[in-house]
Amino acid sequence: MNFHVVTLFPEMFGSYLGESILGRAIKEKKITVSFINPRNFVSGKYGGGPGMVMMAEPIIKAVEQITKKISKKKKSKVLIINFIPSSEKFTTKAAKNISKKYTDVVMICGRYEGIDARVDKILKTKKFSIGDYVLTGGEIPAMALIDSISRQVEGVLGNFDSREEERTSSSEVYTRPEILIHNKKKHRVPKVLLSGHQKKIEEWKLTNKSK
Ligand code: SAM
Repeated sequence: MNFHVVTLFPEMFGSYLGESILGRAIKEKKITVSFINPRNFVSGKYGGGPGMVMMAEPIIKAVEQITKKISKKKKSKVLIINFIPSSEKFTTKAAKNISKKYTDVVMICGRYEGIDARVDKILKTKKFSIGDYVLTGGEIPAMALIDSISRQVEGVLGNFDSREEERTSSSEVYTRPEILIHNKKKHRVPKVLLSGHQKKIEEWKLTNKSK
């Protein structure tokens, strides 16, 4: 899976993508992440009309430069994503679909008041939101999608993690110690998880399942 990020601030991604599972996935070439700055497609200051709306043309030129390169590869399938806080919520289901259907995902990170809306029509973007709140830019949403989609790419999670993925994944998880004492109060791991009874454990996880 190849990710292409259109951003005014590519430096924001370095530390997150350099560490842990994603860092390893990039080193092992399971995923690639490249950046393109729309500032390279303007002469003078970037930005636009009232309340600083990002101009359409530099974004379109940046995306077209990427898609032109991708189209030279055999069997490529490209998805162009724009982030809109009020649009369809991104989910694990979407991450799974994207990882199966596409070879390349282009993500456009807005800033300020957002991006000239004509970009969506011209580039036929898929619009996603990562939640019902407004951030200052699309870089965190782009990192969230890179992370979530990459987890679905074969070989990105280690053996242990992928086995865990295949099982029911629970949002409530525990580790040692069995009894945690905090302010003289005992906090126990649910008994069923210590029972060794696999069927009952799976049933418990289903009632505490991650969405
Ligand atoms: N004027 C826009 C509106 O009312 O929807 C808000 C723009 S926001 C300050 C700047 C950029 O941050 C957006 O263009 C988008 O790229 C990103 N962004 C902010 N919140 C987001 C969210 N919940 N999900 C995805 N992207 C978001």
